[in-house]
Amino acid sequence: MRSGRNFRVDSPAGNAIVTRELAAELERVLELFGVNARNGMKGRIGVFFKPGIFGHHKVGRAADVYAVGGIGFEDWKRQWDAALRSCFLVPGENKRRTKLNIERRKNLGWQLYKALQNYGNWSQPNGFPIQLFGPWTRSEGPWKYISDFLLNAHRDHIHVAK
Ligand SMILES: [Zn+2]
Repeated sequence: MRSGRNFRVDSPAGNAIVTRELAAELERVLELFGVNARNGMKGRIGVFFKPGIFGHHKVGRAADVYAVGGIGFEDWKRQWDAALRSCFLVPGENKRRTKLNIERRKNLGWQLYKALQNYGNWSQPNGFPIQLFGPWTRSEGPWKYISDFLLNAHRDHIHVAK
């Protein structure tokens, strides 16, 4: 994976050696994510990949993102959970929604997950769920029935396959 106009790959090139097809799809989604996340600000948003070993990774059809904006996904998820808890305490539907939108704008981890979910076309092998897994899979989908085992395996990164 190489850097784009709105995102910058911070990890060594060898961390995400993927097929042309997956690279193109990731680049397309990361540009969309980057434009929204930057929101007119200077500087591209950094993403950090680490190499995977199993399944689709063996043939370059999967990529694992471990950090965005210099922050790992366990931290982004912790911030997200805390933000949600504080949102629940806000009285009034409108104020609650306003606060939730502010928290969404602050959380690049959540934004990247939603961008991958909303804009990306990921592989779905016969009899298997869509290959997008991360800390938000159980709450946001696409596969809300993700097992505890698989969810625990994706607490610190997002996995996509194409
Ligand atoms: Zn993976």
